[in-house]
Amino acid sequence: MSAVLSEPVTPSATTGRALREGAFGNARALSCRECGHQVDLGPQYACPECFGPLEVAYDFPAVTREQIEAGPRNIWRYKALLPVPTDIEESPNTEPGFTRLLRAHNLGDKLGIDRLWVKDDSTNPTHSFKDRVVACALSAARELGATTFACPSTGNLANAVAAAGARAGIRTVVFIPSNLERPKQINSAVYTEQLVAVNGNYDDVNRLASEIAGEEEGWAFVNVNVRPFYAEGSKTLGYEIAEQLGWRLPDQVVIPVASGSQLTKVDKAFQELIALGLVEAKPYKIYGAQASGCSPVATAFKDGVDAIRPVKPDTIAKSLAIGNPADGIYVLDICRRSGGTVEDVSDDEVRDGIVLLARTEGIFTETAGGTTVGVLKKLVESGQLDPTLETVVINTGMGLKTIDAVADRVGPAATIDPSYAAFAATNL
Ligand SMILES: *Cc1c(COP(=O)(O)O)cnc(C)c1O
Ligand SMILES: [Zn+2]
Repeated sequence: MSAVLSEPVTPSATTGRALREGAFGNARALSCRECGHQVDLGPQYACPECFGPLEVAYDFPAVTREQIEAGPRNIWRYKALLPVPTDIEESPNTEPGFTRLLRAHNLGDKLGIDRLWVKDDSTNPTHSFKDRVVACALSAARELGATTFACPSTGNLANAVAAAGARAGIRTVVFIPSNLERPKQINSAVYTEQLVAVNGNYDDVNRLASEIAGEEEGWAFVNVNVRPFYAEGSKTLGYEIAEQLGWRLPDQVVIPVASGSQLTKVDKAFQELIALGLVEAKPYKIYGAQASGCSPVATAFKDGVDAIRPVKPDTIAKSLAIGNPADGIYVLDICRRSGGTVEDVSDDEVRDGIVLLARTEGIFTETAGGTTVGVLKKLVESGQLDPTLETVVINTGMGLKTIDAVADRVGPAATIDPSYAAFAATNL
């Protein structure tokens, strides 16, 4: 624990109390993704040398499959690989994770993919993958002594923060764009009295959060000043996919991209599993999915450039509507290096994707999942994805939160009087 000390770039989320021993488990330092400079574990996210993003670095002990399998049926079975204390199960949280990995025979048949799986994160406690990242951020906030648990959100994050904060008994304040879907607003407001709707898009809300983080003491903004800890939670998606396949990696994975954090962390998880000898090393391809109305990463991929040009989002896939994605350049890197691509689909294809998944696999996904399924279809049809290889598509959220997206697409086939004659006349 003798990492280089440096000035924090944001005011501390701590109350000045000392960290307890093992507060972050096997995590050793925060390390700059760009220049490798290391700082002590704490509430900072930007490198003091080059302003690159800080990432958690570890000294992993030997970890076995048996140790993991003996753990609880939630993300804490991987606690040795996360920046959380060894007694993490004793602190109240929403216990997300270990969601279903479903063999998708019908969707596979429809798209011509031999071996297709859906990793279904809609079954998490607040019905999106965000419960995973928030559980890790909550642990960091608690260990740092933060007094307020907060986030700027495209919707699902606010749901997860508000619920986790309620369970943990910590004050929550969540910020959302005021034009957000009503079900998502209510899904936050039911857990917290401090829901703030901001007149602006997510990027405006995010800027405001950074400003507040710079002014207020004791605030842990999950995706701002404790972002390095938060982001590690997404690794558990990658660990679970490998474990649920019988401790092996798939050939191809399709992942939605908002900030790009989830995609980069699934790749990090696969790399860690290989390095720890928990799975056999093998090549795999990672594909990113965006909605055309907010596709700065897909655009950069197709243009063959390294820089991401920010956009103003205009899409029904609001949970993916980040016009200036923090990890976009790393998504480009990973998709190019692994042989995958980043693709985008129109809002109509997003709606089609929602209905397709529902009618083939009985899974009602939100617009983000419609985007991912729509992109999967497009990748097969355009020959970018190999239908003979084992493929996993990640469903990150649940359809009841974005019900209006398909309200005009589905409904009664007929409205009839309660008589057999009326039914027979429908020819159903
Ligand atoms: C936040 C979110 C994502 C993407 O997250 P990033 O890590 O920011 O790319 C995907 N799907 C849903 C439903 C989300 O809420
Ligand atoms: Zn740096």
